[in-house]
Amino acid sequence: MARQVISGIPVSAGIAIGKAFFVNRSLRGRLPRQTVASALIGEEIERLERAFVEAETELMAIRDRIPDELQEHKHIINSHVMILKDPKILGSAKKYVNEHQLNAEWALEKAVADLEKAFSALHDTYIRERMQDVQAVVERVQSRLLGEQRDASAIEGRVIIMAHDLTPADTVVLDVNKIIAFVVAMGGKTSHTGIMARTMGIPAMVGVSELEAEVSDGDLVIIDGFKGKVIIAPDDEELATYHELQVRFDVYQRSVVKECLLPGETSDGYRVKVLANIELFEEVAVVIDNGGEGVGLYRTEYSYISRTELPNEEELVEEYTDMASILSPRRVVIRTLDLGADKFMAHFGKLEEGNPAMGLRAIRFCLTHPELFKIQLRAILRASVVGNISLMFPMISGMREVVAAKALLDEARTELRNAGIPYDPDMPIGIMIELPSAVMVAEFLAKEVDFFSIGTNDLIQYSLGIDRTNHHVSYLYQPLHPAVLRMIKQVVDAAHQEGIEVSLCGEVASDPYCVPILMGMQIDCLSMSPKAIPGIKRVIRQTSMEECKSLLRQVLECNTVSKINKLVKQTIFQRYPEELTFVTSLLDIDEGVPEHPLRPAS
Ligand code: PEP
Ligand code: MG
Repeated sequence: MARQVISGIPVSAGIAIGKAFFVNRSLRGRLPRQTVASALIGEEIERLERAFVEAETELMAIRDRIPDELQEHKHIINSHVMILKDPKILGSAKKYVNEHQLNAEWALEKAVADLEKAFSALHDTYIRERMQDVQAVVERVQSRLLGEQRDASAIEGRVIIMAHDLTPADTVVLDVNKIIAFVVAMGGKTSHTGIMARTMGIPAMVGVSELEAEVSDGDLVIIDGFKGKVIIAPDDEELATYHELQVRFDVYQRSVVKECLLPGETSDGYRVKVLANIELFEEVAVVIDNGGEGVGLYRTEYSYISRTELPNEEELVEEYTDMASILSPRRVVIRTLDLGADKFMAHFGKLEEGNPAMGLRAIRFCLTHPELFKIQLRAILRASVVGNISLMFPMISGMREVVAAKALLDEARTELRNAGIPYDPDMPIGIMIELPSAVMVAEFLAKEVDFFSIGTNDLIQYSLGIDRTNHHVSYLYQPLHPAVLRMIKQVVDAAHQEGIEVSLCGEVASDPYCVPILMGMQIDCLSMSPKAIPGIKRVIRQTSMEECKSLLRQVLECNTVSKINKLVKQTIFQRYPEELTFVTSLLDIDEGVPEHPLRPAS
């Protein structure tokens, strides 16, 4: 195999050297469509049956490796096994082989298309949405027909997980102990893969469009999570260079972690609270170990996504109470459910929406499911007696939603009061500012809540009009776009005008190129992936408020993002050369990456 380098978007820092393992590949255009000679029909049917059996064995093996505490994951796998065992799909595919002499792959496609037609005629959305599970199962069988293995947990040793696409639902069945990096063909700068990889402290790349064409299972590759490169079949010299970089990164990380309990305070005494974004209860220890001053964003939807049944109120109370008690006296901001878009729950299935990012997600979903929402609200209220919990509503577009969400919260309070169940009546209530409309009315919203948290991952997506999970437009994902900077500043100023605190919890908060500018705006808190905390605290400590303000002034005078990126690159790189060697930035800052390409990456 010849040495080759392909590139993509680096979304989690670090170097990984190891073998590639694909958990899925796009099947589009790869499924052969052939007719089978009459004499070979028997063999073709056997091939089809064998693929069903192998897919089942694969699923059982995955299920057996799921730890007991993740019972719900087992349910998902069980439901897939049941679909496989249902004689309808196999029976119908066999018929296509027998009667129309189609090869197994094609016959299976036809069988699924028939089923899809039948499902779509049904009015029951739940049943129609089960079609997604059927598709997932059939893809597994198709992969087996193509001779591809999809059970990552069956492999020996630790591997670099590669995929066409990785949704939160795909990752719940992976054994994290066997993964040293993620590389995905799809995805944008703030898609779920990067967030998860940063939490795990392993490198990751997304938007690697050539991945599936160029890399095979078992290939030795280097993942450069700083520059966004996959080096296939590296030579000895490269291996040695990257081993050395890996060691240097390790030494750097250890040195910053040693200082992580020091406060995030500038040399001239300005204090920024540095908090953590987490998705799972288990990450609480990582927050403490990395000097997090609390949790600025608990993405509660992940404990819903990983199961088929809705969690009940008692389970949620226990989860939130335990988290708050362990972190006490540090603060914990619990964000209410942000389901929808790419985060959907097996219980509801993926909604049939042409444009899910702009669809029924987050607070919109909750306000249309008030009973489900109130279970979570009551649970948060009940856990609030620990004393350090704040509640935050996501995706607020204007006053109407704040008022509606607070009215439901009031109902939940009344129900608890009537039942004699205690809660903290002073629990702070905040909202996420992640829609341009919320920015524009921030001065009104600030009168309604106790704090703001700016969600730049979505704010950038909605203000620049680019899907954050789409690599074709990720070159337009520019956090330092003059429009984005003005919006952030407007929100900070509106919050301070009203005397409320403002935090920023998008990925920008952990980007050392962006942090000094945010500090210049006098942001109160930054919330980020826990492992980024030590490095960002060091950047803050090495800076003065005076220089942050001066940089902000210069940046606000620039009328294009490329001027800003250039200015920031020059100024910041000179200041923190070490920190910047070891980060992935949301900015297109590297020489190899065009700063402002006129055409999208292919
Ligand atoms: C954001 O949008 O910036 C954010 C932090 O929320 P999420 O990434 O969960 O959408
Ligand atoms: Mg968001």
